[in-house]
Amino acid sequence: MRIVLLGAPGAGKGTQAKKLVEKYGIPQVSTGDLLRAAVAAGTPLGKEAKAVMDKGELVPDSIVLGMMEERMKQDDMEKGYILDGFPRNTKQAEALDAMLAKLNMPLTAALSVDVPFEDLMKRLTGRRTCKSCGQMFNVYFSPSKAEGICDKCGAALFQRDDDKEETIKKRLEVYSASTAPLIDYYKGKGILKSVSGTGSIDGIFGEVCAQLGLK
Ligand code: AMP
Repeated sequence: MRIVLLGAPGAGKGTQAKKLVEKYGIPQVSTGDLLRAAVAAGTPLGKEAKAVMDKGELVPDSIVLGMMEERMKQDDMEKGYILDGFPRNTKQAEALDAMLAKLNMPLTAALSVDVPFEDLMKRLTGRRTCKSCGQMFNVYFSPSKAEGICDKCGAALFQRDDDKEETIKKRLEVYSASTAPLIDYYKGKGILKSVSGTGSIDGIFGEVCAQLGLK
């Protein structure tokens, strides 16, 4: 399984990717997570990226492509992978195709998780993530049992800096302008699949597996 997950911020790509990781044991590669790790580590790249991320804009392609090239070389990628949040524009998609052609491991599918635009705002402003295990909650739709505490591991929950209202508006605009065109890009290559991202997480996961031809 070598797949790209497409969908607006808040569509639930990360949640579905984590379920695929749990069930099939292949790595999830999230450029957002890699960038947040660089921010947390305080590297020069992280500092440059944070300023852009806090505005809701895209980090320059040169940074993201360099990071992905390094990640794709690691051994665990041979089992397959789930790309989450990458590619984000046509230039990145073309660069990814070139990278994968060199490695002789083309994508098997691009899966779009579709959620009506009106729902995304609440999903994003309500989103809370566990600092320790990465489990996600939503204060409106799937709150943790104790406020601010992870049900799974008991660590504190946090709100991402870029999940604030102003930044979210910008991220959704950037998605429509730069990332949504990738749906046609992959349709043109004949590998596009799509699922509705509304309903229960497990129900959506069933549909994801069916679309990807997984048992
Ligand atoms: P995400 O966690 O995927 O929503 O990403 C959070 C932020 O990281 C985005 O709003 C961008 O600023 C940055 N980012 C993540 N992935 C990419 C990418 N492939 N290209 C450019 N910027 C990215």
